[in-house]
Amino acid sequence: MRPYQITIKPGKERSIRQRHPWIFSGAIHSATGQMPPGSCVNVQDTKGQFLARAYYNPKSSLAARIFSYSPEDNLDQALLKARIEAAWKRRQHLRKPDNTMQRIVASEADLLPGLIVDRYGDWVVFQILTLGMECVRDAIIRAIEEVLQPQGLIERSDEAVRVKEGLEPRKELIRGTLPEQGLEELEYGLKLRFDPWSGHKTGFYLDQRNNRKLLESYAKDREVLNCFSYTGGFSCAAGRGGASHVLSVDESRPALDHAEANWRANGLDPSRHETLRADVFAHLRQLRDEGRSFDLIVLDPPKFVSDKAQLDRACRGYKDLNLLAFQILRKGGYLATFSCSGLISRDLFQKVVFGAADDAGADVQILHHLSQAEDHPVLLSFPESLYLKGLFCQKL
Ligand code: SAH
Repeated sequence: MRPYQITIKPGKERSIRQRHPWIFSGAIHSATGQMPPGSCVNVQDTKGQFLARAYYNPKSSLAARIFSYSPEDNLDQALLKARIEAAWKRRQHLRKPDNTMQRIVASEADLLPGLIVDRYGDWVVFQILTLGMECVRDAIIRAIEEVLQPQGLIERSDEAVRVKEGLEPRKELIRGTLPEQGLEELEYGLKLRFDPWSGHKTGFYLDQRNNRKLLESYAKDREVLNCFSYTGGFSCAAGRGGASHVLSVDESRPALDHAEANWRANGLDPSRHETLRADVFAHLRQLRDEGRSFDLIVLDPPKFVSDKAQLDRACRGYKDLNLLAFQILRKGGYLATFSCSGLISRDLFQKVVFGAADDAGADVQILHHLSQAEDHPVLLSFPESLYLKGLFCQKL
């Protein structure tokens, strides 16, 4: 049988030749009729020349995603297994007795668009984000089982982006019995507990691992404010680094309960940690109005923007947060400030943070440019895979 095909409009094939994996519906000249949504297709130019293999979802404006540049490849069990195995081998050196959690597959950056696989000790949690991947779900599960041999396997395909693909959310415990208190794993020796069933994403923010470690080295005798603390990863790192006191602020009580448990599990003095359930924006204002100040502040908000129309509003949000933080940061104090919104570039983020420092009348140095951990790699041909940007600043 002839493979299904999509033909790219003249002039739109350049990014495909440069191995950018996304094809928007506006770049498609025509497609084979009557093919089931999510099918694998040959991508060709108007002269009929083969460009790539992709899966196609006419319902999505991001209509096709490339998984191979070889005409023989199919998104089947053999390819999935080989890609997952290769991705795991590239990260094997990261798994250590004191570092038991890694992202194994980071979607496009590991040449498997729409698939996330995280490993937490003997457990694996995966997410399917696109229809093309959904169509091969059984093969994905078999490939994960064969390569990673997990004792427990959870599917957390409940991200909002699935709606754009016409998919319902799905959550399933596929293998194993999840302990009632969730999972507890190690990050640079810190014991961190979280809930892979009800927590955010696959349960934990693995991408901040190295930034937490850096923060630890600046925390000695500092009074720390950890905003958007989630399960207290930054809080515990600061505590182990010798912080005199840490205040963890988040809107989620279950996340803060984990943060408290994590603090204690690491043998840290409970009188040096406080959790507060509050809206960070309102609470920062309150702290400022009360004349409170801190030596080290972490700002790690959720993603503020998922389409370009929200960009201005998102920048105002980042500016407000950073302005308030600079206002309550003591002289000589540090601010670790992040944006995980892919649409905000590093340059733009730095400009926004500059605007905030300027409004606060503060001279500020950047000591470190921060990013996502190495198990969340950036594919050069796909700059969108760089999403986490951070600045570690000092107020003079
Ligand atoms: N820094 C964390 C990850 C932060 S994720 C870590 O290292 O693991 C973002 C967190 O912000 C989530 O826990 C979410 O509950 C919280 N959040 C989102 N909006 C908020 C708001 N307006 N005020 C307080 N917390 C908020």
